[in-house]
Amino acid sequence: MSIAIPRWAHRDARGACEHRAAASGAYWRAFHPGQRTFDYLCQACASGATGGEPAGGLVAASPDLVERLEREGVWEGATEIARLKGGTEA
Ligand SMILES: [Zn+2]
Repeated sequence: MSIAIPRWAHRDARGACEHRAAASGAYWRAFHPGQRTFDYLCQACASGATGGEPAGGLVAASPDLVERLEREGVWEGATEIARLKGGTEA
């Protein structure tokens, strides 16, 4: 069964933590304050365990990467970048 990839995903995805970029599996969409753009993060990075900055930094979300993450990954939920950094709005 193939899962439909949201039409906006390719347009709005900005980056992915290096864990997510390197593997498939569960992912979170972390949205930027006041914007609809987001980064793909793994569970650890999305939980704030790395202090709001994805460990290893972000790699650019290329169309191929978005395609693979959306198709092979499991969407766990959404969070906000600002919340990961301590709850203050940037
Ligand atoms: Zn990560």
